[in-house]
Amino acid sequence: MTISNEKPFLAGNWKMHKTIPEAVEMVKALKEESPQLTDAELVVIPPYTMLSEVKKVIEGSTIQLGAQNIFWEEKGAFTGEVSPPMLKDAGCQYVTIGHSERRQYFGETNETVNKKIKAALAHELTPIMCIGESLEEREKGNTMDKVGTQINSGLEGLGKDEIRRIVIAYEPIWAIGTGVTATPPQAEEVHSFIRKKLTEKYGNEIASYAIILYGGSVKPANTYSILKENNINGALVGGASLEADSFIQITKEAIKAYKEKK
Ligand code: PEP
Repeated sequence: MTISNEKPFLAGNWKMHKTIPEAVEMVKALKEESPQLTDAELVVIPPYTMLSEVKKVIEGSTIQLGAQNIFWEEKGAFTGEVSPPMLKDAGCQYVTIGHSERRQYFGETNETVNKKIKAALAHELTPIMCIGESLEEREKGNTMDKVGTQINSGLEGLGKDEIRRIVIAYEPIWAIGTGVTATPPQAEEVHSFIRKKLTEKYGNEIASYAIILYGGSVKPANTYSILKENNINGALVGGASLEADSFIQITKEAIKAYKEKK
């Protein structure tokens, strides 16, 4: 599936939260409001255990489903892992790959990210590749080096047609779950670097249509100013995506900002 950045893209990463009844309640509320949110692409990313139940609720609406991780093999003796065909089977269209929490706690590397991206694409899943620097890397002036390396390695070996099917999420690690958000100019600086890098590697046509999300303590109150920046096409939202009300508010703010900058 080729995706376009004509609309703001909002993805809610639920991390390791919610029971099945809580998940169903949340997406029912989101679905009720979704006819008012058609000027945005909306994706919910629950834990594996509730994917199928969430899928049943969002069926027939514009809300799409994503998973938080994937393994690169199709099947076999890989206890605890979930394969691309399994995610398709559960109704997923998207999958986050290389989230900083996976890199930090579960040994994800640029190489495993690359393998997972290839596996997702091979099964018509859209990867949301997460990249970003730590506070220490930012303070040492290494932000662009870090992000540039993550792009080069994460996307290694992919052709232009595959790059068209990838979403990139810039998530400074120091802003994830901390309540500290990158200022809009700080985020825009990195987003514009990422788009420039995509231009150099894949040409202007692909780079200008690429979807580059910002993630890191996005809330209703800061969405508008972040989404107003030229190179920011949406948000990957953690904590504030857990409640339907705040995710809906974020979506409305994103739609407003996006319309004004067009
Ligand atoms: C995330 O989980 O990707 C994230 C950005 O979390 P939060 O919005 O809670 O900072």
